[in-house]
Amino acid sequence: SPSIIETDAVIVGAGPVGLFQVFELGLLEIKAHIIDSLAYPGGQCIELYPDKPIYDIPAVPMCTGKELTDNLLKQIEPFGATFHLGEEVTTVQKQGEGPDARFFVETSKGTQLLAKAVFIAGGVGSFQARTLKVDGIEAYEGEQVHYRVKDPSRFAGKNLIVMGGGDSALDWALNFCAGNADGNPHKAESVILVHRRDGFRAAPASVAKMRELCDAMEMQFIVGQATGLEESGGRLTGLKITGSDGITRIVPCDEVLAFFGLSPKLGPIAEWGLALERKQIVVDTEKFETSVPGIFAVGDVNTYPGKKKLILSGFHECALAAFGAAPYVFPEKRILLQYTTTSPKLHKVLGVE
Ligand code: FAD
Repeated sequence: SPSIIETDAVIVGAGPVGLFQVFELGLLEIKAHIIDSLAYPGGQCIELYPDKPIYDIPAVPMCTGKELTDNLLKQIEPFGATFHLGEEVTTVQKQGEGPDARFFVETSKGTQLLAKAVFIAGGVGSFQARTLKVDGIEAYEGEQVHYRVKDPSRFAGKNLIVMGGGDSALDWALNFCAGNADGNPHKAESVILVHRRDGFRAAPASVAKMRELCDAMEMQFIVGQATGLEESGGRLTGLKITGSDGITRIVPCDEVLAFFGLSPKLGPIAEWGLALERKQIVVDTEKFETSVPGIFAVGDVNTYPGKKKLILSGFHECALAAFGAAPYVFPEKRILLQYTTTSPKLHKVLGVE
């Protein structure tokens, strides 16, 4: 059996809030392991809006999701947290009670840890793109049917169907379209946008641009839903699109890009015996502790009266949760608040002496 890693704290989720939890624990000299099912840190900031600007981080007038993540990683560097990426936490189990209580944590890859405190920063849960509901489509997923764009160049010169009515669908449809004249190296041969209704949840400017391109016959927009597929010789050759008029048309294509959003899948977190309210973990607002003493929940995953799902709220929660957990990690120690500006001890842990 694999050896069990003993540590002070385990953080479930390496989104912005999980990353800042490392920092707040580090100041109190609490060592952490941090685990994320994604292959990279950053959570929603990286997965959903790496290049979009964020304007409401205190004292940072503007930064992108990627910049925020990079800066958090830099800020937590002194604390040397161990990252386990590409592993989903499947089990969190309390063993024993009182000062000797430990939490057994296990991941989908078989990593096992024993911690004195657990911090759940799981956000909206493990990311799962909503998929196209068409019989037989699975065979083409990752081949000709895509729910995210990893490598835009593979779509150059292809006939594309882009599905969805949100920003991702519109942004990519415009990006791959002929009208994107600023030297776009990934121009597709043709772009057909398909959405179930003639109304969008995307930026009005993008919608206007899309309509302009349709008028110029550089893009096509079809109201309808995919109800079947066309194949030939093991290749997907088109989709059957049923319009609001009830008529089904065959729309040929080389590749399908479907952006139906992410379904919030709390996943295994729901099975750890914690009190939940509408798929969120109930916490107090003193320590952000869950119904199980020693397990804390911070960021988008928690709920309490007045909760706002904002990064800055998550950061505040991390500070209080760290203080809340300190007695579990250091039962003998009195924990005092110190300032990073003036405390020689904090300078030492930050490595800025
Ligand atoms: P997340 O960022 O969701 O990260 C959670 C991580 O936990 C994920 O990486 C997930 O893979 C991982 N995870 C979940 N379950 C497990 C498991 N069992 N095992 C391992 N890993 C697991 N907020 C602002 O304050 N300002 C903004 O301007 C802003 N703009 C936004 C724009 C968009 C388009 C979106 C979608 C959100 C925006 N937000 C904004 C909200 C902000 O992104 C979230 O509040 C923030 O990401 C929450 O951080 P988190 O760390 O709690 O969770």
